[in-house]
Amino acid sequence: MSVISENWQATIARTQRAIHAAGRDSSSVKVMAVSKTFPLAYIMEAASAGAQAFGENYVQEGVEKICAARALGLFHLEWHFIGPLQSNKTRLVAEHFDWVHSVDRLKTAERLSAQRPAHLTDLQVCLQVNISGEASKGGVSPSDTVSLAQSVARLPHLKLRGLMAIPRPTHDAKAQHAAFAETREILERCQAVGLEVDTLSMGMSADLEAAIAEGATIVRVGTAIFGARAGRTS
Ligand SMILES: *Cc1c(COP(=O)(O)O)cnc(C)c1O
Repeated sequence: MSVISENWQATIARTQRAIHAAGRDSSSVKVMAVSKTFPLAYIMEAASAGAQAFGENYVQEGVEKICAARALGLFHLEWHFIGPLQSNKTRLVAEHFDWVHSVDRLKTAERLSAQRPAHLTDLQVCLQVNISGEASKGGVSPSDTVSLAQSVARLPHLKLRGLMAIPRPTHDAKAQHAAFAETREILERCQAVGLEVDTLSMGMSADLEAAIAEGATIVRVGTAIFGARAGRTS
């Protein structure tokens, strides 16, 4: 068994333990394999071990891998864009990805909506919430999230699914739980105004247990599956 396939199995086991500890349904959390900076060969290994959803942060790199995977006949994989999204790159994302987790302004959502090809299913969208209030990070502020969600939910060719958060990294379990719980509360506020949202994209290699305990439905795992990344880290 390859290292990637062992890592994938270990990540699934870890996720299942966290789901069980939280008393949740065993199929309630999806593991996304974050493959940014890693070559297609790694993606194929993870896919043969059972991974179906892959996360990419850089538009060009992601589109190249998507096209290469489809050229090899891998049509069942699901591609998630999770990186910062510049407005001049929305077209490629709208044309190639299945999900976008990093929408944080209406203008980006409007462009994705206008650029999503009509023959494709709706682009699945999460709003990125700047949960730790870090000036350097993208994301809509918690207080503006519900109104942005209401606007995005009205756009054609997009399906608003929920929220994504990347809390400030910390080893303090209490702080991890607090940030994820706050994200869940914002999702509940969206639901309270009638939005049909079901997705909490939160938790990475270092904090997926806390995220699952607080209601994550998608965890985004890179390092624990593919190993440490060289160079660019985000
Ligand atoms: C890189 C990245 C991840 C994966 O992080 P790991 O710590 O390697 O698991 C998850 N989400 C986003 C948005 C990322 O950029």
